[in-house]
Amino acid sequence: MQNVKLNCGIDMPIIGYGVYMVDPSVTERCVLDALSVGYRSLDTAQYYENEAMVGAAVRKSGVPRDEVFITSKLCQSRPTYAQAKENVKGSLRRMRLDYLDLMLIHWPMGNDGDIWAAFEDLVKEGYLRSIGVSNFYPGQFEKLVREASMIPAVNQIETHVFYQQRPMISKMADAGTVVESWGPLAEGLNGIFTNPVLTEVGAAHGKTAAQVALRFLTQQGIIVIPKSVHKERMIQNLDTLDFDLSQDEMAAIRCLDTGHNLEGWPSDALKYNPETVV
Ligand code: NAD
Repeated sequence: MQNVKLNCGIDMPIIGYGVYMVDPSVTERCVLDALSVGYRSLDTAQYYENEAMVGAAVRKSGVPRDEVFITSKLCQSRPTYAQAKENVKGSLRRMRLDYLDLMLIHWPMGNDGDIWAAFEDLVKEGYLRSIGVSNFYPGQFEKLVREASMIPAVNQIETHVFYQQRPMISKMADAGTVVESWGPLAEGLNGIFTNPVLTEVGAAHGKTAAQVALRFLTQQGIIVIPKSVHKERMIQNLDTLDFDLSQDEMAAIRCLDTGHNLEGWPSDALKYNPETVV
């Protein structure tokens, strides 16, 4: 598996397995399948209510803990520093883990400076190996970084062929923060799996439209965490690093960018609202 080097010096697999909307009753089975076909990075969140099943699957799989990169995300409105620390320890208790490889603030929570200070101390105390943010756009990101000692290792944001996030990618590169794509398959929307450009490019490489959509991102160094509950699709999504898209193919796919996220928000609305907090 190809890794991406994070700014704190640790390696993160460029492809992981995401479990958003994976029902808690099937999460353990799905994560076991994902580990059995070769995934070594898992993305969960407090909000998904399946952290415990992810931890259980890792233990049951027999894969050594230090060979799996595990991410979760904090979701608590305006916690104090002490509450944020306790919150992260709650994730560890639910997952029955001693440490997480990456903890993210799931979206701007209103007092992100306090959360971030708690995250930084949890890194120093050995509970977290790396820390980052999710759904942070420039104003929110810059505000956090102004008060931070550690720069976020990743910013996990909606990124796919229909919403390519070029301005964010260059801003994050300037900051030394890796972009991690959520919804790398556009959550299956917009006809992505039968898109004519992706299908035609895929035919030239013996790959599906889904595989081309993922390769378009990883070829730019973007981390992807596609979700599927089907083992054969998990395999397909992992089998995407053995071909390269040509410059012409990348250019053709760049034309699919709508400049809108899946909810129809134009990138400008998300990009330039400096003090937006929820
Ligand atoms: P996704 O883009 O991974 O698409 C998932 C959909 O595509 C599912 O319907 C699945 O059945 C289908 N699919 C997957 N592989 C396929 C294949 N090879 N062929 C055909 N269909 C296929 O959407 P997602 O789950 O929303 O995003 C991936 C992960 O990102 C999530 O599981 C979660 O871990 C993370 N996420 C994070 C946030 C955030 O706010 N940070 C938001 C959404 C998702």
